[in-house]
Amino acid sequence: MESAILGLRCPDCGEGALNTDMTVHPVCPRHGRFQEARYDLAKIAGGVDRDSLRPRRRGIWRYRALLPVRDDDHVVTMGEGDTPLVHARRLGAEIGLDHLYVKDESQNPTGSFKDRGASVTLSKCKEVGVKGLILASSGNAASSFSAYSARAGLPFVGFIRRETSAVHRLQTLIYGAEIYVVEGTMVEGTQLAQAVADKHGLFHCTQPYNLYRVEGKKTLAFEISESLGWRVPDRILVPTAGGTNALALYKGYEELNALGWVKGMPAIDVVQAEGCHPIVLAWKSGEPVKRWAKVETKSVGLGHPFPKAGDQVVEIMKKTGGIGWVVSDAHTFAAARLLARTEGLFVQPASAAPVACFLAMGEARARKGHGGQLIVGIASGSGKNQVDAPLAELGEPPLIEARLDAFEAARTRR
Ligand SMILES: [Zn+2]
Repeated sequence: MESAILGLRCPDCGEGALNTDMTVHPVCPRHGRFQEARYDLAKIAGGVDRDSLRPRRRGIWRYRALLPVRDDDHVVTMGEGDTPLVHARRLGAEIGLDHLYVKDESQNPTGSFKDRGASVTLSKCKEVGVKGLILASSGNAASSFSAYSARAGLPFVGFIRRETSAVHRLQTLIYGAEIYVVEGTMVEGTQLAQAVADKHGLFHCTQPYNLYRVEGKKTLAFEISESLGWRVPDRILVPTAGGTNALALYKGYEELNALGWVKGMPAIDVVQAEGCHPIVLAWKSGEPVKRWAKVETKSVGLGHPFPKAGDQVVEIMKKTGGIGWVVSDAHTFAAARLLARTEGLFVQPASAAPVACFLAMGEARARKGHGGQLIVGIASGSGKNQVDAPLAELGEPPLIEARLDAFEAARTRR
């Protein structure tokens, strides 16, 4: 079934135009809320059997009825999506959770969940004739948009940061993107990207200016539901900087409920770093999200001091009964090691944040509070995407001469 997109609309007041499904300023003219893509869900419910989706085609585009691209010829894809939902039995036993699942997003083409949003964004950009794109990122998104822009044959300008890893610098450059290291935080990078977008007529795809990233990422909700036989998890833990993932999961589950394919909404939990947790702070205090004064985290990807969609994320946490979690770098790094050692999953420290929550809690308390719940943690990116700091923590392996006695001597020193 082709895309059933109707157009863009404000989720509050319904303001927005049908058939206008591309805009660089997706904000409600009435009260400034970010607009969303809306679909003819009744038409999909009548025309698509949820169980027929799986064998049809691989990846996020098997949900194309629920994606905003009208013509198949415009789809820009590299096989993103369909990542494994791993039942983490050995890990769960260590931290006291019987039904812990990890959505392993490291298996996307550029090694992170950003590929879902990039595939949908570039497809839509091709469809409406955008001449180029720009984005500010701490790394994963810059790599992803560099790759998908190359695939689409569109120019891409990326603003990365001083702490962006060598892997991401290499990835973005080899894809032929125009890359600059911008001083300052994500806020300054995003403001500059907006200014350049305005002046040079580029499509600004930093979240939340680009609603098509939400459209791509909502397929996480579809895949998780399908993998669990359409059972809704009790809670989904989302490592959070800008908050697009939380918005996307919520929208995905809303659409699934409207279609009658699932019943109920998971609690959407937000996990942030001790050294930068403006959304969790706002959730606790009941006040609007305020700018975090000084970002201090080694978990690259978790350091957004002032996410524009933050208040919307807090709203979603409240509506779904989600919890705000704060984790230290020590816990995210330890959680990344634990995921690797118990499940063979190699994720970057920020992606291990959902596991870090329970690690910080201790087995007894985790079992008491969450033991019986079906919990999904989103592991957003590959361990290959942040190498230096985790390797420094583990230490280099010993160098030995190629002799048996040298091996035995080194082994006793371990
Ligand atoms: Zn409105």
